[in-house]
Amino acid sequence: MSRARGPGPEKLPRAVVRRRSGVHGFGLYARDFIPQDTRIIEYLGERITKAEAQRREDRRLERLAAGGDGCVYIFEVNERHDLDGDVPWNAARRINHSCTPNCETQKVRGRIWIVARRDIAPGEELNYDYGFDFAEWRDHPCRCGTAACAGYIVNTGQRWRVRRLRAEERPTGKLR
Ligand SMILES: [Zn+2]
Repeated sequence: MSRARGPGPEKLPRAVVRRRSGVHGFGLYARDFIPQDTRIIEYLGERITKAEAQRREDRRLERLAAGGDGCVYIFEVNERHDLDGDVPWNAARRINHSCTPNCETQKVRGRIWIVARRDIAPGEELNYDYGFDFAEWRDHPCRCGTAACAGYIVNTGQRWRVRRLRAEERPTGKLR
């Protein structure tokens, strides 16, 4: 655990298990029934200034441009601070995105929680909407497979723009 500068390796609440996901990498799954509105797990991380968050975001975009890992783990906490969840003790970083999620993130007094949006059955994969900005939609393909999926991870308000662009790009077979 050379990277562990914090509270040690990741810990999972009793109601949650880690398993390989059909969507992406490892995911978190409900072990037990989880009622709607339950605060399931805290999204932990390193509290950083906005300037540091920007520096890390620039590095992430460089990695992405070089064909590397472009995952986003930085959350806005308030006007002065962000939270970088890319730390080994943050088990919640494994939760995948879905366009029809069963969880959501909630800020409670400067902390971020993953909360059940509805009742969740044992064995269901937990997911929330990453809500990425439209600007870099092409960098984040989505494989959630739900009916609401736009094929890319983009916040709900802007999914129609992605759908329209993709429809325009699709060859129609018509003669011009
Ligand atoms: Zn999707």
